[in-house]
Amino acid sequence: MNNKVEKLIKFGAELEISISEAQGEKLIQYMEEILEINKHINLTRITEEDEFIKRHLLDSLTLLKYIKNPSASILDVGTGGGFPGIPLAIMMEGATITLLDSTKKKLIVVENIAKALNISNIKILHGRAEELGQDRKYRESYDIVTSRAVANLTLLSEYCLPLTKIGGKFLPMKGREYKSEITEAEKPIAVLGGEIKAMEECLILQSEWVHVIIVIEKIKKTPRILPRTNGKIKSEKFPLLLK
Ligand code: SAH
Repeated sequence: MNNKVEKLIKFGAELEISISEAQGEKLIQYMEEILEINKHINLTRITEEDEFIKRHLLDSLTLLKYIKNPSASILDVGTGGGFPGIPLAIMMEGATITLLDSTKKKLIVVENIAKALNISNIKILHGRAEELGQDRKYRESYDIVTSRAVANLTLLSEYCLPLTKIGGKFLPMKGREYKSEITEAEKPIAVLGGEIKAMEECLILQSEWVHVIIVIEKIKKTPRILPRTNGKIKSEKFPLLLK
């Protein structure tokens, strides 16, 4: 076995994430393709392989624990270079992962690599989350919506909760500053039809770096006027008084 694959499987086991050899090979191939293209198109600032394995591959896979249904429809909002969506697709063959981004160039790169690696359970979706959230075709239609490094929790909730099915989950991945973000986002989340169920800090392999997964359940419909247009989001405060 290639020693990068071996390392990934070993680190995974330390985090209680069980990765098969075939999955490990695909994850490493994906990393290698991204790093190659990253020389020309900026997809990530993480270019050192060990760090890539931890911060992109394993970090994405910490979500697995929260996704119980192996055939879930999953939406990754602001996927960028494919994180966390592509590692989830590699690990969950029975699930369908939709990768959404407002930058077409990035989606084309991710789609091409996925094709080359035979990752067939993904769909590419180009657009802005707040616009698709008002489109009947996408609104309240995903079992799981996740997102990493896209916006603060209040804004991210307005992007993601309208797209989450009732009974489904929104799983934002956050950094150290999550507590103050939650304080600010608590009421907007309730207005959007969500309820915070849990938050779990994960320490990736004794590193300094803490990340948190917040588990938000969609318990009721999002009011029609949400999400607002990008213009309104920028110029107005979140409409808290709404019933
Ligand atoms: N999730 C990836 C990329 C983060 S960069 C990672 O963790 O590595 C943020 C990405 O979100 C960018 O690619 C940007 O184009 C996209 N984005 C920002 N706002 C968006 C919106 N409103 N709708 C869809 N995509 C958005």
